[in-house]
Amino acid sequence: MGYIFGLDREQASLLPARIEDYVAADAAVRVIDAFVDGLDLAVLGFSRAAPALTGRPGYDPRDLLKLYVWGYFNEVRSSRRLERACRRDVEAMWLLRRLAPDFKTIADFRRDNGAGIVGTCRAFVLLCRDAGLFSARLVALDGSKFRAVASAKKVVDRQGIEQEAARLDGRIAAYLAGLDDADAAEPDDAPEAVAAALAALRARRAELDRLAARLDTEDRNLIVEGEEDARPMGSGRGPKPPGYNMQSVVDAGTGMIVHHEVTDEPNDRRQLHPMATATKESLGLDTLTVVADKGYDNGEHASACERDGIVACVPSQRSVNNQGDGTLFDRTAFIYEPETDTLVCPAGRTLVRKQLHRQKRNVTYASPDCSGCALKNQCTTAERRLVKRHLDDDALNRMTARATPERMRARRCAVEHPFGTIKRKMAGGRFLTRGLKATRTEMALSVLAYNILRAININTATS
Ligand code: SF4
Repeated sequence: MGYIFGLDREQASLLPARIEDYVAADAAVRVIDAFVDGLDLAVLGFSRAAPALTGRPGYDPRDLLKLYVWGYFNEVRSSRRLERACRRDVEAMWLLRRLAPDFKTIADFRRDNGAGIVGTCRAFVLLCRDAGLFSARLVALDGSKFRAVASAKKVVDRQGIEQEAARLDGRIAAYLAGLDDADAAEPDDAPEAVAAALAALRARRAELDRLAARLDTEDRNLIVEGEEDARPMGSGRGPKPPGYNMQSVVDAGTGMIVHHEVTDEPNDRRQLHPMATATKESLGLDTLTVVADKGYDNGEHASACERDGIVACVPSQRSVNNQGDGTLFDRTAFIYEPETDTLVCPAGRTLVRKQLHRQKRNVTYASPDCSGCALKNQCTTAERRLVKRHLDDDALNRMTARATPERMRARRCAVEHPFGTIKRKMAGGRFLTRGLKATRTEMALSVLAYNILRAININTATS
């Protein structure tokens, strides 16, 4: 038995194969090609969407956009690898018609067209919406951390900046004292190596001042050197790696991401209403049911969602506000009377408003007199009972009641697949670019690639 032999490399062909013949009729690259060809790049805000009338012709942004979408679809994200792919990969050669832009042109395109690329991701969602792909009215919201281009060692706090600044001040003073001793008090007259060392110390000192000023301006305590938009994120003890929080809203019917956002907020508490509103507008719906985990529990957002026609289903993570060893009445034993803004306790007495805490959005109610109460040993160990009630308590209770086990199961099934797939395609969930603006562009490409893959799979399964 022999082996299967390929063609002789010296074999001439009478009719050479066309590059078209190397790309299968149902290849995903053809979907990418057709989708980008159907876009109005000028409306989406791409630069050079119309060719310049004079000067050397540049690359068509349509070609560079196709290359990036194809690259993220195939886990080829860096501009240098995309440049190589244009010369090696038959699909890239087909897509760009044998054009081979250099890596700088490719990288500049991504850097300069962030808004257009984000708009392209949204355009695909609208295309799917108009094609009737999103049948379910239930969407799942979740967040996941993606690593920034910086290590945990680059996280510095206010105290660390002050300590390093003090050390540098000491070293600068020592250099200047040495120069004085050498009768060369003016740094310009100092030997070249000393002047260079002094300049480096002063540059670093100025950089520390800039970092401290940014901490003051943004009223925070930590900053990541070299990737200042990122924040240390993650759970558990130990140093937290710098990253970004990717919020995504997934259609439970198709598993497609209908809206996403990259934020620098380490937790999800302030994301429910803006993400749900943007999704509802994007899908053009009058009402939308959103299910999320307890990290999104927020009274203000619960009320805002009800006001805007969004049915939010989020389990509670509030404390039960019971007192003593945990066996005493919790706050659910106290009935709220909206007409009088009072609480009625299990003994039938009235607790009146004592204090409003605007920042925490809660009100403390107090019993004026607990003396002689037969239930006192089940209620409080203090002289009288205090109960806290959230200003949005009713909306919160309704939101919690809607978070049924079935809905929470649907949430888990919907959100885990997109994050898993995107993180795998992004080398375990790592960005290649720095800064919030650039990471938003990168995530838009990843989400677009994921949605195209999902749409193809749905189409294949249903045809
Ligand atoms: S201790 Fe006070 S608040 Fe509690 S049940 Fe008795 S009267 Fe009501």
